[in-house]
Amino acid sequence: MKPEGGQRGPIAAIVFASTGEDIRNCGQCDLCSIELSPSMDMTIGELLQKAAQNDPSVFRSTTLWHYDPMLHMDGRCQTGIDILRVIEAMREEAKLRGISP
Ligand code: SF4
Repeated sequence: MKPEGGQRGPIAAIVFASTGEDIRNCGQCDLCSIELSPSMDMTIGELLQKAAQNDPSVFRSTTLWHYDPMLHMDGRCQTGIDILRVIEAMREEAKLRGISP
């Protein structure tokens, strides 16, 4: 059975180990989510908050899989989080848990 919960450790720690980015620093200002596609089910700020709370539902979020900085936003974050790297790390973690779009 593939682990979808906390068996692989906290999501924030996994992302940090992979990218050096601390998603707990996201202040949910949502300035990066002004141009979200209707296909996205939550803002980037909401996604990172849930990930920081180790909520595995983030791996099934359409925001995680539909995020495209070329189409929806420029990927800049006021607190310096590299959003694209974080998204890519979360996608990789989802795949390790047997989840794909
Ligand atoms: S701009 Fe940065 S701090 Fe604001 S919601 Fe997006 S990721 Fe979080």
